[in-house]
This record gives sequence, structure tokens and C-alpha cells, in this order.
Amino acid sequence: MQSINPFIGQIIGEYPEYSSTEVEEIIFKVDRAFQLWKLTGFEERAVCMKNLQAKLLENKDELALLMVSEMGKVKREAIGEIEKCALVCSYYAENAESFLKNESIRTEALESYISYQPIGTVLAVMPWNFPFWQVFRFLAPALMAGNTGVLKHASNVSGCALAIEHLVRKAGFPENVFRTLLIGSKAVKSVIENPLIKAVSLTGSTPAGQSVASVAGSVLKKSVLELGGSDPYLILEDADIETASRLCVTSRLLNAGQSCIGAKRFIIIDKVYDQFKAEFVRLMSQAVYGDPLDPNTTFGPLARTDLRNELHQQVVKSVELGATVLLGGFIPEGKAPFYPATVLENVVPGMPAYHEELFGPVAVLFRVNSEEEAIRIANDTVYGLGAGIFTADVVKGKILAEKGLQAGCVFVNDFVKSNPRLPFGGMKESGYGRELSAIGIREFVNTKTVVVK
Ligand code: NAP
Repeated sequence: MQSINPFIGQIIGEYPEYSSTEVEEIIFKVDRAFQLWKLTGFEERAVCMKNLQAKLLENKDELALLMVSEMGKVKREAIGEIEKCALVCSYYAENAESFLKNESIRTEALESYISYQPIGTVLAVMPWNFPFWQVFRFLAPALMAGNTGVLKHASNVSGCALAIEHLVRKAGFPENVFRTLLIGSKAVKSVIENPLIKAVSLTGSTPAGQSVASVAGSVLKKSVLELGGSDPYLILEDADIETASRLCVTSRLLNAGQSCIGAKRFIIIDKVYDQFKAEFVRLMSQAVYGDPLDPNTTFGPLARTDLRNELHQQVVKSVELGATVLLGGFIPEGKAPFYPATVLENVVPGMPAYHEELFGPVAVLFRVNSEEEAIRIANDTVYGLGAGIFTADVVKGKILAEKGLQAGCVFVNDFVKSNPRLPFGGMKESGYGRELSAIGIREFVNTKTVVVK
């Protein structure tokens, strides 16, 4: 397995894949660790989790640079990502006990209640786009619930995977409570099938989710899937166009557009279409791509050349079928896999840009005549992760958010962001289950009914 710095185009790390025997030995040790970890109290777990928070913050710069070098995000965003990981550690250190305390339910019995118990070792299969955040939002609730974990990270961020394992150990968690498995995706099946693995959480593409869910289903193990998205943003007639275009551009370009909850499709009511388009294209054209360490860079290279080329093909095929390029849409000179901020319009069904997730800085604008048409296009996708609505009428915004849009999270007058206090996840082919909040920590526990006569 190789880590290649996308900006400089050099191999910065080579990691031999673990053999199946090594993987089995690690899982065995992690299960042994579970037998003791499950007996610890919330206070003891919280001390380790708070230490982990401190370790993240102490090593913020170094960890951020590791992400920058393995997948090319700008340093400013990498620092923010580490800070968010520290936040999720403190959030679950402080709240896990109340989220998992017994819940009494009145029945005819003397006592009846729900008790939440850990289930064992959970496998996390994670993507490269937020190499720390994706892992920590799994790790913090899983360990605070008394579970243990093994991580199969994306093959291009093995340095981050090992750094996370190291941090957990340094924070004082008992040996083997959380381990990294350096394996490719083909080895995931046998890990899920291992009887000592009790459940699996995957964040990644829809095909990876389908594959993992079918293996988990065949051995009747629970899975939580956080998959792709093609988030629609509705710009209604009464929207504040300046704010809407600024926030939409910010969301589209975060992490060089490689975010599951990036704003991807912009559906604009006819009356304000030209105004929004002009401002949106103006702001997109000001974005600067370049060295991720340069503070003036808006976004860095895409994480890998193959992913950049796939994105460009989606644009090229859409243009061949009649889409119009308002900005960008070409492969820049040079070796690094940059892609310019790109805006398309006249996108219709049958084009890749209409149906597929665009995992890079490419935006699609749709002109519609009514809110009904806007909702129809917004929902005309296999995905259902996030969505946004810009309107001065908050009451209407809430009705459309609750009843109109098919999505796991809808933000009115802002762009979708994950937050430790709020459930996060999708519907349709964006997956199932939720991470974060009280709901997230209850995904991997046994909800046990206890009745005393
Ligand atoms: P990916 O190719 O699906 O990879 C994600 C992880 O799954 C990696 O660890 C990968 O391992 C593994 N994997 C891939 N195919 C697999 C298979 N058939 N069986 C088992 N494991 C498999 O996705 P990516 O390119 O890294 O990430 C981008 C995708 O993730 C986008 O679609 C994005 O929207 C989605 N995403 C979703 C969320 C969310 O919360 N909903 C968050 C972030 C990203 P290898 O690296 O070894 O192939």
C-alpha cells in the first residue's frame, strides 16, 4: 500500500499489507481487550477519551500536515478537522453516560427498563476524504459505549490510520482497544465474517456499501452505512442571493469538493436564476487552487489522479450530451491532479452530471419555474444525504425541509455540516443508520429489555 503526496507527486510511504494470519491475531487481541474494557465504567473511559482529546490538540500541526501530505487538503481545513475530532472526543466523554443510562418503562411488572450494553469489536471501513474526522466520529462513541474497534482505512491514507492507532495508545487506553488493520478492500469480507467481529460501520461510496452490507447480511451482522451524496440546494425567489451564493460556493469547494455533504446541485427559481448564476460564477472564478500549504490557496489538488480523471470524464460526457460549461471544465497543465472550479448548466436527465455524484469542485445549476419543480428535481436522484434551502420564509423552509426533500439532513439558510450533537446520515442509496448524537452511540449497543417480576 502506498501513500502518494498528490501535490508533489511523490511516494511518501509504503506499507506492506498485513497477512490474514496477522489480521486474525490482531482481532483476537482486540476481542480479549473487549472482555476487560466492557467492565470499565464511564468515568474511566472518559479519562482516556479526554486524554485523546488533549493528544489531538497537542499534535494538531503534525497531524494536519500528515493529512495534507497524504490526500492534499489545505492545511487550514486539516487543522479544523483535528479540532473537530477533539470536540467529538470531549462530547462523548461528557455525554456517553447519560445517553446510555438505563431507561425505566412503566409496565405491570415490579420493574422494567432498557439497558444499553456494548456488543464487542466493531469494524470501521473508512474513506480518505476526511481521514481523521470520519474515524473519530466512529471511534469516540464506540469506545465510550464499551466496544472495541478495528479500522480498515482507505489504502491511500495508511499514515493517518497508523497515527490514529498510536494516538489512542498514547492517550492511555488499554492495549488493543483500538487497532488499525493495513489491508486492502478485498480482505474486508473475511474480517466481517470473523466471528469475533460483531458489526461493521462503513463510510464510503455506494458500491463499497453494497458490498459490505451484503457480506454483513450473509452473516447477520449489523451494518451502518454512510455513503455518497448529490446534495441539492434550493434557491427560492425570496432568498438572500448574496448569502446563498457565498455559502453555496463555500460548501461546493470545501475539501476541493471531495465531501459527501458538499453542495452539488443548485436548483434556482427562474426569477432569481440570472442573479444567482452571476454571483455564483463570480465567486467560483475567484477560487484559487494550488499548494495546500499556502494560506492563499482556496483548495488543493484532488486526492488521486485517477479520481481527477474520472471527474473530468463526467464533465466531458455531460458536455457531449449538451451541457454548457460556464466556468472551468478542463484539466490544467502540470502533474498534480488539480481540477478547476467548474460550473455547468443545461444539465438534463441522461447526463452523468444529472445522475452521478460529482466528487470534486464541479457545480450544476438548474433553472426551474416553481417550488414543485425544484423539489421534483432535488429528489430525482438515488441519493438522499443532505440538502439545503435558501428562503426568507423560514416557515416555508421548514415545511419543505420536513416534508418535501428526501434527505437525512436539511439545513435552511446554511449549508449542511456535521455536528457531534446532531444525528448524521442518509436515506436511499446514501445509506442507513446514524452517526453522532445520542442516536449514533446507540447504533452499536445491545438495547436490552430487563423485566423484574
Ligand atoms: P470508497 O472507494 O468506497 O472507499 C471507502 C472505503 O471502503 C476504503 O477504505 C476502501 O478501501 C473501502 N472499500 C472500497 N470498496 C470496497 C469493497 N468492495 N469492500 C470493502 N471495502 C471497500 O470511497 P472513497 O473514494 O474512499 O470515498 C469517497 C466516497 O465516500 C464518496 O462517494 C463520498 O460521498 C463517500 N463519503 C460518504 C460520507 C458520509 O458520511 N455519508 C463521508 C465521506 C465520504 P480501499 O481504499 O482499500 O479501496
